[in-house]
Amino acid sequence: MALTVTACQPAASPTPTETADLVIVNGRVFASDEAGTTAEAVAVRGNTILRLGTTAEISALRGPETRVVDARGGSVVPGFNDAHVHFVSGGLALGDVDLAGLTTLRQVQAAIAAFATAHQGEGWLKGRGWLYSPFPGGSPTKAQLDEIVPDRPAIMDCYDGHSVWVNSKALALAGITKDTRNPPNGEIVKDPRTGEPTGHLKEAATALMDKVLPQPTETDMRAAIKAAATYANQFGVTSIQNAGGTIEEMALYEAAKRDGDLTVRTYLAFSASAATTEADADRMVETWNRLGDDATVRSGIVKMYADGVIESRTAAMLAPYENSQSSGTPNLTAADLERVVALLDKRGLQVQIHAIGDRAIRMSLDALERASSVNPAPARGRRHRLEHIEAVADEDIARFGKLGVIASQQPMHVALGDMNQAKPSGPWPDNVGPERYARAWAWRRIMAGGGRIAFGSDWPVAPLEAGQGIWLATTRVTLPGGTEQPMQMADAIRGYTSWPAYASFEDHRKGTLEPGMLADIAVLASDVFARPPRTATDVVVQTTVFDGRVVYERKTGR
Ligand SMILES: [Zn+2]
Repeated sequence: MALTVTACQPAASPTPTETADLVIVNGRVFASDEAGTTAEAVAVRGNTILRLGTTAEISALRGPETRVVDARGGSVVPGFNDAHVHFVSGGLALGDVDLAGLTTLRQVQAAIAAFATAHQGEGWLKGRGWLYSPFPGGSPTKAQLDEIVPDRPAIMDCYDGHSVWVNSKALALAGITKDTRNPPNGEIVKDPRTGEPTGHLKEAATALMDKVLPQPTETDMRAAIKAAATYANQFGVTSIQNAGGTIEEMALYEAAKRDGDLTVRTYLAFSASAATTEADADRMVETWNRLGDDATVRSGIVKMYADGVIESRTAAMLAPYENSQSSGTPNLTAADLERVVALLDKRGLQVQIHAIGDRAIRMSLDALERASSVNPAPARGRRHRLEHIEAVADEDIARFGKLGVIASQQPMHVALGDMNQAKPSGPWPDNVGPERYARAWAWRRIMAGGGRIAFGSDWPVAPLEAGQGIWLATTRVTLPGGTEQPMQMADAIRGYTSWPAYASFEDHRKGTLEPGMLADIAVLASDVFARPPRTATDVVVQTTVFDGRVVYERKTGR
């Protein structure tokens, strides 16, 4: 891809006010602006970018105290901004069994067995990240878990967060038997012959475990935020956008910042549902105002769920699933969605709606369109967003551009759904059928229609490594009958930097490497423009700068 090289400021001999605190030299700097500015080196003073230039020009800004980072030919980009994470649950899960990416039952069982051996005791054994593919019929059983963990309760979350897998001990503790009825919007999977629960709980049935599972304390959550921030820095992530939470949780981020533990900038969403009232929204605005326009702990956004996920056929589709009579049911009525969106929009709050199925996406766009017709535009304008947008109807693609609705998407979900191969298999493609899968995850077509994109991981649903998303976005296979093309490298990087900054109303202060912008920078181990990643692990972060300080350096040499 050709990058425009724009002229940098001429080198002048450094005056005291121009001496840099940190310089990054010998790099392939991509500023991530829309012009595609490139350079060799970056100078930082305090917590902002001083200027870009050649290595010689920037080296001239060195003083005796200046820290020098040699990029050794690697790409230098703005720190990654993950537009959709669940930061506390991700941080908590760092201490659990990690089943992410395991593709056979043998691997899954071996990982759990090894963890159980290393963490002996009688308490709960917890894990997360299992895929559907290792299990016959896509449904795990208690017997498969009892085999390795017979003596203590065990619970494993599915990667999509919409199913859990439990053993017999856990079912017994929760009092779930063949006589237990399904809760609304949930399913206790039962053996068709015996009627016994199989150990697979879907959607709202997962909440049946909550009353017996030890809940994390405030101290646990506070520690999880710190652990998650440190973990994020390893992947060059310097900003995260948390997709839903409570007002109380926001105080934990403030405490983390006060204690110097918050090495990422956070944009924190409140959670709303059909039950949200005007008074609830007023309380959100109060907290939003109290946090203010802080560049590290900020809010002003509200998360809603219009539907579930395709893997468990709980996403709301316009037509029935390929392998079922059902087309899924939205989480709330169109009238409730319109009402709640309108009362949030009226207060100037940004709204983000989880919408995966084509029906949920249409309902959500309708609700956002309606809000903008009944309410006057908020002072800061509207930057409402839909989250995921996996199976969008062709007729709705142009509405993103037309309505100014941001498409917040997660490239790694394509790989998790087994979609990044010529002959996809797995619950995602099986459930929607070939026609709908061929036109899924339509980010390039949304862009072509004038829509804006923000990329993220949905961590811990998918890995927090932005590099994996960049790999997937730029190597994506065009499916048979599909039109969606891989992203250009420059756009994939913008999708993790400048575009998410727009999506949190912060494009004026971060997301590009321009003088005056916050100095959040990722130095990669190689030049991803010259050598595009071929595998999920090819994008390696060498150094991460947050707020002008080096917060991560990779230990091993290259
Ligand atoms: Zn999510």
